Amino acid sequence: MCGIIGYIGNSDATRVLVDGLYRMEYRGYDSAGIALVTNDGIVLRKVAGQVRDLDHVVSTMTQRSCLGIAHTRWATHGVPNDHNAHPHMDCKGQFAVVHNGIVENYRTLKKFLEERGHTFSSETDSEVIPHLIEEFYTDDLLSAVIKACSYIEGTYGLAIITLRQPDCIVAARMGSPLVIGKGQNEYIVASDLAAIISHTDQVVYLRDGDIAEIAQDKLRIESRQMGTIAPEIQRVTWTLEQIEKSGYAHFMLKEINEQPLVMRDTIRGRLNYDEGIARLNGIADHVEQLRDADRIIIIACGTSWHAALIGEYMIESLAGIPVEVEYGSEFRYRKPVLTKGTVCIAVSQSGETADTLAALREAKRHGIPVLGICNVVGSTIARETDAGIYIHAGPEIGVASTKAFLAQIMTFALLSLLLGRLTHLSLDAGRNIIDAITRIPDQLSDLLQNLPETLIDIAKAFKDHRNFLYLGRGYNFPIALEGALKLKEISYIHAEGYPAAEMKHGPIALIDKNMPVVVIAIKDAIYNKVISNIEEIRTRSGIVIAIGSEGDESLQEFADYTIFVPKTLDHLYPLLTTLPLQLLAYYIADLKGLDVDRPRNLAKSVTVE
Ligand code: GLU
Repeated sequence: MCGIIGYIGNSDATRVLVDGLYRMEYRGYDSAGIALVTNDGIVLRKVAGQVRDLDHVVSTMTQRSCLGIAHTRWATHGVPNDHNAHPHMDCKGQFAVVHNGIVENYRTLKKFLEERGHTFSSETDSEVIPHLIEEFYTDDLLSAVIKACSYIEGTYGLAIITLRQPDCIVAARMGSPLVIGKGQNEYIVASDLAAIISHTDQVVYLRDGDIAEIAQDKLRIESRQMGTIAPEIQRVTWTLEQIEKSGYAHFMLKEINEQPLVMRDTIRGRLNYDEGIARLNGIADHVEQLRDADRIIIIACGTSWHAALIGEYMIESLAGIPVEVEYGSEFRYRKPVLTKGTVCIAVSQSGETADTLAALREAKRHGIPVLGICNVVGSTIARETDAGIYIHAGPEIGVASTKAFLAQIMTFALLSLLLGRLTHLSLDAGRNIIDAITRIPDQLSDLLQNLPETLIDIAKAFKDHRNFLYLGRGYNFPIALEGALKLKEISYIHAEGYPAAEMKHGPIALIDKNMPVVVIAIKDAIYNKVISNIEEIRTRSGIVIAIGSEGDESLQEFADYTIFVPKTLDHLYPLLTTLPLQLLAYYIADLKGLDVDRPRNLAKSVTVE
């Protein structure tokens, strides 16, 4: 998910590679490494930490090379340390590999390779790749990589060098981007244009299933579908800044647009259709403890707290296990009653949130088992919990969380499916949920195509309002809270989220012709109740912006503006209804000319109390 770069040419490879890593730093990473083909064999240097630490290490190296690969790792399997950093090598140190992505079947492959005598030195999924190549190599790297790739299930961007053929790099792509830059007598392959454009503007984009053999003066591409194909050279006209944001104006917008992909990564390898169940290896040893728990307490802060509320609704309704959601900051200072049958789950994108961390330590002090739901592998919360689930959202750079929120909700959808099937959900119900979950990424892609125009119009109409109200019920009540939080965070407009029916107990006093009210009114079990709430707003001249279900044309009669999301199961709607609210907040802040990615007073990871 992070950075790959490879170089072959006449220049000093070390410099080109390390400079390339610096240019990819904006993506977020936790460790870095480099491998060079030299007269002394393959020289490998890896460090947990920053590119400048690696730079410091390589500056003392005496070997020179014109051929090498380098990597910034964003850990998905195995904590960020020197051993787990890439490149990884085979048993004899003849092949070096950098990998972005996830090898889903790495356990099976590792077992197969260990039985054939291979020994492993890291905890990563990626290390199976150099060993597979070693296993299959006879005299041609390209053929060995083609064969190795045919064994891999999952996603990869790969760059590989070998001592046996010190005149080429082989690169392969499946679901993880790779671009090859063609210079004067040199090639640079990278996962990100940012690492290439200071050298050349002539590039070849690899497609999924492509495997390329890159020599100093020759490029050959083998496509899985089409056999040998002629490289199609294109000219890049983007600036470095545009490239870092993939052409989007802000990281937040980029991350919102990445959500279909993130959903695929969160569910990858975790759904078992035959048994109608989810598989969550990270907590495999604790599933029975959760199923038999008297009570699950979910601890979180901010956006993660909203995801936790949805988790509460999902687990209680699908699995019938009592759940409570706590703010980390409250839990740690009150005297919670923690009985023996309690299990805690700590949710944090960064895995470093100070209040959540302190709360989980408090729970552990009482002898309560604590599981984690985090994005950053090897983070403090990931390390201090007994077990956990990674949400696989990739690095999130925009301060206002978007894609990590969706990945947290999806993780709760998987967890509630798993617990539901272990309690009272039927096989058919489980399969029905799996069908609906697998449709979510495409449904989000469609929404991303269709929504912006309407939302920009709405944003233009309301950007100068000082107050907003967000209402939702059931699974969409936490989405109302999250919609209001997003607006507050980046546009500095005062917004409140409420359970729709609570409006009449107070906030209704605020409603007049100047109050825009965003109402999530999808066709679920409580649709009619929400429509009644909308009537109450209309009666008081409030402006209604409604998020409804596709096909519900009648909603237009009740609302001033309507936005439709595709149909799904009741408990999965939050995965779709969040998107328009993220975009609304984004467009309003952007139209106001605010710094969307770095809103005032906020930090990405709140590591203070
Ligand atoms: N899954 C690999 C690991 O955890 C690759 C991570 C990445 O894409 O940076 O090492």
